[in-house]
Amino acid sequence: MSDKISLVLMCIDYRFWPEALPLLEKKYGEFDLIELAGASKNLVSPTEEADRTALLENIGISISLHHPHQIILTNHTDCGMYGGSKNFKSLEEEINFQINDLKSAKDVIKQKFPELPTVMVLIHRDQDEKISIEEVV
Ligand SMILES: [Zn+2]
Repeated sequence: MSDKISLVLMCIDYRFWPEALPLLEKKYGEFDLIELAGASKNLVSPTEEADRTALLENIGISISLHHPHQIILTNHTDCGMYGGSKNFKSLEEEINFQINDLKSAKDVIKQKFPELPTVMVLIHRDQDEKISIEEVV
């Protein structure tokens, strides 16, 4: 058990999290985990305002119980909550959209929890079916 943990926000999608979570743990160490369909979308353009509220409450609970030193916001390509990859003209357009949403989600976190550093990560399955996690700067 580490005394310095992170907090990860992840989509529920079974095609991504089983491989992505071990990669995140290898890179960032132990973490609290919040899984919610659409991950960062719930902070930027939630289906229901209650989704954003519940997510922010869970972040607050993690902070008060386990004191994470950073939050890792993730989004993934082909996310059903964004209409999937088919909703975009190209992979480049999709990735740019996801990066913009991650940045907007980071702003929401910053307003509510200004003391908590935020890392943005895009999860992608490439053509040879390999999952990658890429930090967005
Ligand atoms: Zn998803």
